[in-house]
Amino acid sequence: MENPSAHDVAVIGSGPNGLAAAIVAAQQGHSTVVYEANQTIGGGLRSAELTLPGFVHDVCSSVHPMGGASPFFKSLPLAKHGLHWITPAAAAAHPLDGGDAVMLWNDLERTADALGADRASYRRRIGALVRDWPRLEADILSPLGFPAHPVAYARFGIQALFPSQSYANFAFTTARARALFAGCAAHSVLPLTSAGTAAFGLVFFGVAHASGWPVARGGSQSIANALAAHFKSLGGEIVTGAPISSYEQLRGAEILMFDTAPAAMARVMGDRFPQWYAQKLNRFPRGPGVFKIDWALNAPIPWTARECLEASTVHVGGTIEEIAAAEAAPSRGECAEKPFVLVTQPSLFDSSRAPAGQHTAWGYCHVPNGSTVDMQVRIEAQIERFAPGFRDTIIARAVQTPATLQASNANLIGGDIGGGSNDLMSLLFRPTWRTYSTPVPGVHLCSASTPPGGGIHGMCGYHAAARALK
Ligand SMILES: Cc1cc2nc3c(=O)[nH]c(=O)nc-3n(C[C@H](O)[C@H](O)[C@H](O)COP(=O)(O)OP(=O)(O)OC[C@H]3O[C@@H](n4cnc5c(N)ncnc54)[C@H](O)[C@@H]3O)c2cc1C
Repeated sequence: MENPSAHDVAVIGSGPNGLAAAIVAAQQGHSTVVYEANQTIGGGLRSAELTLPGFVHDVCSSVHPMGGASPFFKSLPLAKHGLHWITPAAAAAHPLDGGDAVMLWNDLERTADALGADRASYRRRIGALVRDWPRLEADILSPLGFPAHPVAYARFGIQALFPSQSYANFAFTTARARALFAGCAAHSVLPLTSAGTAAFGLVFFGVAHASGWPVARGGSQSIANALAAHFKSLGGEIVTGAPISSYEQLRGAEILMFDTAPAAMARVMGDRFPQWYAQKLNRFPRGPGVFKIDWALNAPIPWTARECLEASTVHVGGTIEEIAAAEAAPSRGECAEKPFVLVTQPSLFDSSRAPAGQHTAWGYCHVPNGSTVDMQVRIEAQIERFAPGFRDTIIARAVQTPATLQASNANLIGGDIGGGSNDLMSLLFRPTWRTYSTPVPGVHLCSASTPPGGGIHGMCGYHAAARALK
């Protein structure tokens, strides 16, 4: 590794937040270097042939509701560097027993029209949210502070604070609308009875109707590649195969931005951090883990409800009661017998992902942090329930357990994909009340373990760098 003292700013980690922080620093004219432990850049944005040659799988993130909506990404010339968003007509599909599916179309009216007795409620509540969305987007993707649009934010915030199960049961009367909301709220990776989980359902509904849930042509890696290409065009440098384990490796840089887990930053900083602060970082609550399967398929997933083929994401778990039961299990240290499975099927919209006529898909479910339970049979049984014949379409699979996820990216501790728990306090004040800054001047955290939290949007990195370099 070259002498880091040659750079003003050193960023540790090349995930979307590390690359965003690096771009902000380079935009301001600072000589900036990114150190990445892996041989490949991108963190949660990597794509690879995990199963068979010609099948490009997204190792982690696949569908990017917040990527398409990110004010920072929108400000960058990423299309010039090869990023092409593909936005399917439906954000999400939610199959139900009996061959029915409820759809989250990008078109709000089309979504509402299929909700029967909940049509009016959906149009009123979600219509208001979508009208407010242009004013809310930046505030939602920011750390807690006085919002730029307080009235819109208050309208959102009052509803967002509810547990998602209570919100769905209050706002909607039909099992279909409640299930649709539960599937989106379950992205919180919390029991649906937890305060604040309604925020996830509302945000995912809002962004569906505002800009859709896009995939990136060629795989999520192309988002990382575009960010990296833009960073390099500003004079930045990226060093791969460079795990940072001690402060000595970084000595000389004036500003350090850690796109890492809080505990990893504490390890690197050692006794330069006061003990009380290091302890807080080490105790930052983790979220549950995930158990993920990538499939190479010889045909599209044979959903009984054919409209499921119109969505990049399929929420597989049945009714709100079933999803609530599945999502409560990890918090008790248990794995659900009938897990809620998040499925993505990007090759339906991007033919570059697989050989002609063949397909890629992934599915994961939430498990206790660090779980060693094999969920393959349970995940595939849930998909088979709504897509009989699914198992016959599988020509290869690659399994990622919480342990293998962590081995491929040190930030995914125990398989936690969100950079820490999303419970209300941890979400707003992550990893401590200081959020990005630390007691050591010039040292900052910029990963998903800072506000606004997990997902591909780069806004943690953007806000961290903007503050660090003020
Ligand atoms: C299986 C899975 C599925 C997901 N699906 C989605 C999805 O569909 N949509 C979505 O929006 N989000 C999804 N996410 C979440 C998303 O990937 C993360 O929230 C996001 O990548 C966090 O970005 P980050 O920059 O904070 O960290 P990361 O993307 O995790 O990047 C951190 C980088 O830092 C490097 N690093 C760590 N420690 C060191 C060190 N000491 N020295 C050098 N380098 C280091 C790592 O190798 C890694 O490259 C998913 C995540 C996973 C794991």
